[in-house]
Amino acid sequence: MKFYSTNKKAEELSFDRAVLKGLATDQGVYMPKTVPVLPADFFNNIEAKSKEEIGFAVLEPYLRGVFDNATINEIISETINFDFPLVEVEQDVYALELFHGPTLAFKDVGARFLARCLSKCRPASGKVKVLVATSGDTGSAVAQGFLKVAGVEVVILYPKGKISKSQEQQLTTNGNNIEALEVDGDFDDCQRLVKTAFSDLELNEKLFLTSANSINIARLLPQSLYYFFAYQQLRNKSKKVVVSVPSGNYGNLTAGLLAKTMGLPIHHFVASTNANKSVPNYLETGQYEPLPSVATISNAMDVGAPNNFPRMQALLGDWEGMKKNISAFSYSDEQTKAAMLQVKSTRDYVMDPHGAVGYLGLQDYLKNNKDWQGIFLETAHPAKFKDIVDGVIQESIAIPERLQKFLDKEKQVVAMSKNYADFKSYLEA
Ligand SMILES: *Cc1c(COP(=O)(O)O)cnc(C)c1O
Repeated sequence: MKFYSTNKKAEELSFDRAVLKGLATDQGVYMPKTVPVLPADFFNNIEAKSKEEIGFAVLEPYLRGVFDNATINEIISETINFDFPLVEVEQDVYALELFHGPTLAFKDVGARFLARCLSKCRPASGKVKVLVATSGDTGSAVAQGFLKVAGVEVVILYPKGKISKSQEQQLTTNGNNIEALEVDGDFDDCQRLVKTAFSDLELNEKLFLTSANSINIARLLPQSLYYFFAYQQLRNKSKKVVVSVPSGNYGNLTAGLLAKTMGLPIHHFVASTNANKSVPNYLETGQYEPLPSVATISNAMDVGAPNNFPRMQALLGDWEGMKKNISAFSYSDEQTKAAMLQVKSTRDYVMDPHGAVGYLGLQDYLKNNKDWQGIFLETAHPAKFKDIVDGVIQESIAIPERLQKFLDKEKQVVAMSKNYADFKSYLEA
């Protein structure tokens, strides 16, 4: 399988090289040249399959020829070694809970898969150094995903005093192959240090540097599995299915589109967003305009220029193709909070702000499609957003043990200035 750049001006690469590269030289993002289609029999029989069997069937076509089957199985089973329960919230309305991994948000799967792929396809000459600038969540998923993975060292840069306590604990208490740098600056300074390092030829001759950001094709592909796991758990497979995806960079939604292209019987998608509505605007007008990001309570979706938009176009084509497959809705923080409160008081189900946006989009779609059933993705555990959730539902929600575990550990960080020369000598040492 070859992977092409969505800007079509870069060389096509095999999976391993596309993973090592991340962003293509023409600044496009990688996509598989063909999307494999699974036989109908696979879906008729899906209830009898294990998560690992589904994982192998879905992902092996992309990895074939790069890794042997035993390696593919190993990567997959380590990627998905927790639960993905589908919970009935109301009649014909289900939450797919994607927060049962180590950092309690859905980014765990992509980070775990990328870590293992990088470890297996690194150059024979030695270690890979992964640099990540984070404003919170990506860094914690990457830290946990890469922890103790052989041959990969991770350096995480975060802005001092600007991330939440629980995020900081998840980044800074790992030791082993994970180093955390507390940068005396803001997120943009962190990002600038990382970008400067990537373009520093002298440094790149000495070290094999790569990134773990969300444009990497290895973070995208395994997210397709969520949709297969959801479908597998649906009791009634004869009703039409719509999936509502709370979206920021649109990676999760793109993975759903890939799953559908592979033959999974999902009939429609809802792109549910907060005030960052470049995609809802596009579906309404046909004009795509990236916008500056706006801060909301569902902050992992505060993205004005989603970097997976070219991938959505690659799969669906023009405006007509997009409209046929996706409906998009945008919600204010007030609407989001009202949904959290309503579902808690009527159904005793606690949603985090991102899941609540997904729930709202699903309800809006089902209003006009009453004989359908719907799934919304619950992308984070509500305890990750305890500051907001407790206030809305007027209750103190319990912190799961695996989150508490981080809160109790000792922080290990290196203080870093925002000067590139300091960062460079740290990397070289
Ligand atoms: C990253 C994230 C999203 C948005 O996912 P995209 O793939 O960027 O659209 C939604 N919810 C949570 C909790 C996230 O961390």
